[in-house]
Amino acid sequence: MVGNSLKRRGLMFVLSSPSGAGKTTIAHRLLQEDMEIAMSISVTTRPIRPGESDGLDYRFTDRAEFAAMIERDEFLEWAEVFGHFYGTPKAQIRAGLKEGQDFLFDIDWQGTQQLYQRMETDVVRVFLLPPSIEALEERLRHRGTDSDEVIHSRMDRARFEISHWDGYDYVVINDDIEACFEQVHGILCAERLRRARQTGLVDFTRDLMR
Ligand code: 5GP
Repeated sequence: MVGNSLKRRGLMFVLSSPSGAGKTTIAHRLLQEDMEIAMSISVTTRPIRPGESDGLDYRFTDRAEFAAMIERDEFLEWAEVFGHFYGTPKAQIRAGLKEGQDFLFDIDWQGTQQLYQRMETDVVRVFLLPPSIEALEERLRHRGTDSDEVIHSRMDRARFEISHWDGYDYVVINDDIEACFEQVHGILCAERLRRARQTGLVDFTRDLMR
């Protein structure tokens, strides 16, 4: 629902950012405070970590099954990240969208591009930027006990990710987490109101004009 009871098609909400720009915090709040969006559960070949559960964090599988899923064209997109495979399964997303379920995606720009090529109008791409490169470095340093070398390679990676800013529909600068959340949530709410997604409008307006 979008503040009304009209039937609508769900959307695929992609939130990307260089690491340290606040994506995880914003994603958690969206999932907590908005009842109509759920995390898209990816399939992965990486080993399960302590605290994770199969079917909740990921669907864990082996390489042979993942390869078979690629062969059967069961992914909307997939990628190899740090030696493991990750993919977005088609079936659950397609069924959910039809029912008006929105999905949140935590994927990089390459995955985003693949998703967009396949699902175009269902995809809303949001990119978060840090207020400055110094602020980003500060946030990465505050995270833990990483060595200077690790921080440097993370900063290089962050610059590379930032260079893809123009592949997104919306760009939000995360200067203040509260304001950033309001803006991201505002984008989600506005996108739900797009005429093409409100599939119940035909009947509704017909009734209004009767
Ligand atoms: P982790 O193993 O730490 O959970 O995730 C490692 C990376 O894989 C993250 O950068 C995450 O964005 C990416 N990832 C997770 N699921 C998918 C997916 O379904 N597709 C793509 N392209 N990347 C994914």
